[in-house]
Amino acid sequence: QRPVPSDIAISRSCVPKPIDRMAMEVGLLSDEVELYGKTKAKIQLSVMKRLQAKPDGKYVVVTGITPTPLGEGKSTTTIGLVQALGAHLKLNVFACVRQPSQGPTFGIKGGAAGGGYSQVIPMEEFNLHLTGDIHAITAANNLVAAAIDARIFHENTQTDKALYNRLVPLSGGKRQFSSNQVNRLKKLGIEKTDPATLTEEEVTRFVRLDMNPDAVTWQRVLDTNDRFLRKITIGQSPTEKGFTREAQFDITVASEIMAVLALTSSLVDMRQRLANMVVATSRSGQPITTEDLGVSGALAVLMRDAIKPNLMQTLEGTPVFVHAGPFANIAHGNSSILADKIALKLVGPEGFVVTEAGFGADIGMEKFFNIKCRHSGLRPHVVVLVATVRALKMHGGGPTVTAGMPLPREYVEENLELLEKGCCNMNKQIENARYFGVPVVVAVNAFKTDTEAELGVICDAAKAAGAFDAVRCSHWAEGGAGAVALGQAVQRAAETPSNFKFLYDVELPIADKIRIIAQKIYGADDIELLPEAQHKVELYTKQGFGNLPICMAKTHLSLSHEADKKGVPTGFVVPVRDIRASVGAGFLVPLVGTMPTIPGLPTRPCFYDIDLDPETEQVNGLF
Ligand code: ADP
Repeated sequence: QRPVPSDIAISRSCVPKPIDRMAMEVGLLSDEVELYGKTKAKIQLSVMKRLQAKPDGKYVVVTGITPTPLGEGKSTTTIGLVQALGAHLKLNVFACVRQPSQGPTFGIKGGAAGGGYSQVIPMEEFNLHLTGDIHAITAANNLVAAAIDARIFHENTQTDKALYNRLVPLSGGKRQFSSNQVNRLKKLGIEKTDPATLTEEEVTRFVRLDMNPDAVTWQRVLDTNDRFLRKITIGQSPTEKGFTREAQFDITVASEIMAVLALTSSLVDMRQRLANMVVATSRSGQPITTEDLGVSGALAVLMRDAIKPNLMQTLEGTPVFVHAGPFANIAHGNSSILADKIALKLVGPEGFVVTEAGFGADIGMEKFFNIKCRHSGLRPHVVVLVATVRALKMHGGGPTVTAGMPLPREYVEENLELLEKGCCNMNKQIENARYFGVPVVVAVNAFKTDTEAELGVICDAAKAAGAFDAVRCSHWAEGGAGAVALGQAVQRAAETPSNFKFLYDVELPIADKIRIIAQKIYGADDIELLPEAQHKVELYTKQGFGNLPICMAKTHLSLSHEADKKGVPTGFVVPVRDIRASVGAGFLVPLVGTMPTIPGLPTRPCFYDIDLDPETEQVNGLF
């Protein structure tokens, strides 16, 4: 076998076709395409209207077994599979993937464009700023944060009258409400549009959001692994007159606005979701929204371009949408509904759209079904579950695997005993996928040190555990040609009738929904709601948010909440520390254990290797 060059060397060796040509090939009209240079374009949402009568293609979701910290090749398999279906089996295809966060790109894991001969290109464009969507989210999120603390400050340092005069300024001798303010008045039940007719009591209710600084749930965000921002004190300058409070930063890709982008279905819907986001609770227990702050219109403006999916391509010239990138462990881990919907129309009824759900099936896939599909109304035809010899050996009791360190001997030499023991994790994840009534094809992502016997063990175990089929693939080393058998298995599986169902009814009480996920998907005995979580259950139920789906924030490295428990852990109780409400996005986030919501940098981060060649202006060291 010839050696496979580095990801960036492969990416750079391939000249991408001009993106406007790609757009034409997939059936987009020139005025639906906004070019961002030669290799990226944004696609206008008007295409949805034009194609609304066209039947959708087949919908495939790629997930995986519980991974090692190195990743088991879900992105690589997503790209390899569309290359196989598109470039080799000659079908209309689209891959829909998440935009990577710069946290991992410069931190531990590196890029997320796939790898080897199955990549989105140019990978440096993909892994860095792309078209600025994540930056737009950071800007929008932090505008809300600034609005919250400024409002608390102004309300507490001004009289009702002064506040009113500033909030509703004179214009042409008359006061007029802004559109955000009219919405707020309606919410307060004050059916008046003429400011002159407000009573004193109504003025007070109108101008005072009366946010409890201790009950602000909105966090500032940054797309950098900066662990020292996990807990901060804000307002320390004397100009803030003692209005200090403890706060924190999250990573941008865990923010609610990222989730809104991923789950929205139109500009109108996004504007509404951006208005519904709850940022705090008032002293009297009322939820305070972005609309109350008067900021939701500005958020829609900041997100106006971000809502359009980004078109790129694979190494073999098949189309890719890169759109939205919520983390899977602390957010819902799936790319945008809009990209999937547009792609399903573009490929047509004989075509395939392959979308990727982050991390293992207990995390990204569970959220794909229970959150993304619930919001989109789309029903997938096939689940592709990626498995590797190395991760299954780890589940069988193999030593710890660390990014950047050589793999221990067990992983590079044949060891059928460890592998057979570890297949239990794959079997459980197959069961998890089958709870939703969709056929499962296992993709065994082969590494060069894997033996024939080892690959055979996984395929046999997968079929015995109820997979529709299990196929070994070599798309990392060979591109789409190495995933043709996988493509054919997916085609066959897509023809079988699926019997889709959700895992739980959203109308169940919050604790019951969390318990169903913990018991069925993680294999837990029960859940334990710690006092803060119990308080939130009561608060959200009272505020009317009890019927939202659940987005668990849990480690991806184990089926349980403890990262070092491999295989299929049993006899554990899942501790829920706190619950956040993402009312605009449309889910509740139970925080399990001590999951940090912004990662840190390791001793030797990826950025050590990254540099710019000033002669060629090429980026080196990305992988
Ligand atoms: P995931 O999406 O599951 O996190 P990725 O597709 O990003 O995983 O792959 C993780 C890393 O492993 C990437 O650097 C990729 O190039 C590499 N990789 C994936 N499959 C193989 C393979 N079969 N052989 C060698 N390296 C691989």
